[in-house]
Amino acid sequence: MIDHRRLGRELDLFVSDPLAGAGLPIWLPAGAAARHAIEEYVREVERRAGYQHVYSPPLGKRELFALSGHLGYFADDMFPPMRLSADDEFVLRPALCPHHALVYRARGRSYRELPLRVGELGAMYRAERSGVLGGLSRVRAISLNDAHNFCTLEQVGDEVREILRLIREAHAALGVRPSGFRLSLRGPGAKYVGDDASWARAEELLRAALDGMDHEEAPGEAAFYGPKIDIQIVDAASRESTLSTVQLDFDKPEKFDLSYTDPAGARQRPVLVHRSLVGSMERLFAYLIEVHQGAFPPWYAPVQLLLLPVDAGPAGQAGAVARLARRAVDAGLRVEVDATGSLGARVRDAARRRVPYVGVVGAREAADDAVALRLRDGRSLDPMPADDAVGLIGAVVAARSAELLPAR
Ligand SMILES: [Zn+2]
Repeated sequence: MIDHRRLGRELDLFVSDPLAGAGLPIWLPAGAAARHAIEEYVREVERRAGYQHVYSPPLGKRELFALSGHLGYFADDMFPPMRLSADDEFVLRPALCPHHALVYRARGRSYRELPLRVGELGAMYRAERSGVLGGLSRVRAISLNDAHNFCTLEQVGDEVREILRLIREAHAALGVRPSGFRLSLRGPGAKYVGDDASWARAEELLRAALDGMDHEEAPGEAAFYGPKIDIQIVDAASRESTLSTVQLDFDKPEKFDLSYTDPAGARQRPVLVHRSLVGSMERLFAYLIEVHQGAFPPWYAPVQLLLLPVDAGPAGQAGAVARLARRAVDAGLRVEVDATGSLGARVRDAARRRVPYVGVVGAREAADDAVALRLRDGRSLDPMPADDAVGLIGAVVAARSAELLPAR
């Protein structure tokens, strides 16, 4: 494996500028293109699974985070409040749950609406000390793939099973290979909120949802507000961290006084499930850059097709290549033309950039409206009609395949 910071520089994915601040990376166009593809994919997976997406601001009044409890138990990890006036203080949020609790509370809820799944890819902040920051793996501005599923205790088992299924589906598409699943349970002591029966039931439901999946159990590792499942990854430096998570919470529905009306018309308290399918975009990319060594699957490669005219001069193929590029862009592909320098140097540069498809157009291809594709893995295909080449790449991208050629 390779350090993602070096590859991030070489591939122009992101930059960390001391003037902007440590732990506040800037996504360059190539990194942003790959991230955008993944964000669209995750949003689509969630939409199909019944999630409703919202937008909420990355900062809020101090009182919101006092109510959620973050200012009580999480203050050390938060940036200090910003004071506008004596009774108007704001904090950069350390989590999205408080805002999503307000989404739930925006109107009365019926049992018929549950599970209510509120999703957002949102910004949050951690006041990490500068010494621990590095590249994308530890940052101060975090873009989290987050959702909060409000449901009844009876629904928790099915809900968690479905979340685990979505996590496995997303991991397979992205090329994430988790190092393990960990079920964190309650330990001895009185720091836990919620009654014993609910805890026992919740732990049982999480264990049942993990049925058949290899996992370890960690007594005493649960949060004070509920048990959780963490899906771990290991980075190039052999450090383990959590990528995806499913966390039960008995506390925030209480704190925000969330309720729904049951079939008998009585007010009931929902259970909150915090979950992230792929974690933060920063930690995810730190991992993906290393595990793929920069050679992303075509569907989220920053540039999918790099077109090279053999002769870029006035009598050459620049015009034919420009027309082909237009068609490929209109077909939804991310395309670039490289017309500067020797053909050999351009082919080598495409390999350095890990571009999955290089399309070479010489005099004969230009005359035939054709292109010769070279694949990132070294294979070369015979010249084919340009539309076929665009269709071939489009099919691989649409299938979100890790292979470079469509399955036959
Ligand atoms: Zn949350």
